[in-house]
Amino acid sequence: MSSTIEERFGPYGGRFVPEVLMSALDELTVVWAETRDDPEYLAELDRLLRTYVGRPTPLYRADRLSERLGRRVYLKREDLAHTGAHKINNAVGQALLAKRMSKSRVIAETGAGQHGVATATACALLGLECVVYMGTEDMRRQASNVERMRLLGAEVAPVEAGARTLKEAVSAAIRDWVTSSDRSHYVIGSVVGPAPYPALVRDLQSVIGVEIAEQAADAEGGPPSRVIACVGGGSNAIGSFHAFLDTPGVELIGVEAGGEGLDTPRHGASLGAGRTGVLHGALSSVLADEDGQIQEAHSISAGLDYPGVGPEHAHLRDTGRARYESVTNEQALRAFREISRLEGIIPALESAHAIAWLLADADRRVAETPSSPVCFTPEFGFDVVTMSGRGDKDMAEATAGLDELDG
Ligand SMILES: *Cc1c(COP(=O)(O)O)cnc(C)c1O
Repeated sequence: MSSTIEERFGPYGGRFVPEVLMSALDELTVVWAETRDDPEYLAELDRLLRTYVGRPTPLYRADRLSERLGRRVYLKREDLAHTGAHKINNAVGQALLAKRMSKSRVIAETGAGQHGVATATACALLGLECVVYMGTEDMRRQASNVERMRLLGAEVAPVEAGARTLKEAVSAAIRDWVTSSDRSHYVIGSVVGPAPYPALVRDLQSVIGVEIAEQAADAEGGPPSRVIACVGGGSNAIGSFHAFLDTPGVELIGVEAGGEGLDTPRHGASLGAGRTGVLHGALSSVLADEDGQIQEAHSISAGLDYPGVGPEHAHLRDTGRARYESVTNEQALRAFREISRLEGIIPALESAHAIAWLLADADRRVAETPSSPVCFTPEFGFDVVTMSGRGDKDMAEATAGLDELDG
């Protein structure tokens, strides 16, 4: 890794925060610049990723899914990482960083609770005090994650303001950090927020793509032709893409939450249907009205239900290096069931979005060239889809949604 930490990605990124946070962000930038190349830190991170998180996660050739698609596809199994998703990669890396900065206390925000659980886990592992801010509406909807965090020794701090969800939890966490940054480190859960967080979280998630490159070389002798991942804040996607940014010929495809459709106000497609604006301390592509007022996002999957996205994705969209598509709630639900039955893998509803796009892409190809819908020949290469997490957490939501679809 180079030692300059990007503050901007094209026009996006930056730091739109109260002046009092500038010195904490400066400190974090300096510390990360020296830490991310430090052999001692990297050796300890590598040890924990291997022996605690369970890395490298497998790259699995999904034969029955490939048969259905008429195209060879591999699944990058982040769902097999400890706590069941990629978020632990970032949480462990940042908790280790907090220790290095001699900060004994960690602050995090959480919406659905996945990032809160990952952070509480990393703090238990490293013996750090952990406070997770969570809206009371989210606490009600995600009661089992609240219990998990408490069992892991974290304090869950209820946030009563506004809609009592993620947005208010972020504000509360930032307020805490303003007064406690001398002894607290703030762990952001995705590639969002003020610099250096988008670069810091990306660096920690890049292990996904580095492993894909190695495993694809072993399995197929070279890189995939397409890498596909779902995009909420964008951390599993950028983590999957980053190793391939300079490898021409590898197509990078991010799949956003289309909710009830991009022609309705109920979706989470900040890149596909957003505008340039500021959210949570960075300039990016956001869901906002003409006056710049942030709008509510909507998705059946809590992890994609966010009105912003990491600034690096906005830049990759503009430069054309990656492209961003979306699928609806209904497509994601159907893919959730289909991949469960084809491969015996129950995916997170977030990850089901990436699979749903592949299914739709295959259907499109068959419709366009009915004579030769099968592309198993080498010139078509193969796809890698990142399974960002496992679906246990989504069983109730998905079962209810599928019952409704089946009418
Ligand atoms: C949180 C989450 C996401 C969305 O976050 P990104 O930062 O976009 O990766 C996707 N999948 C799972 C399983 C998650 O828990």
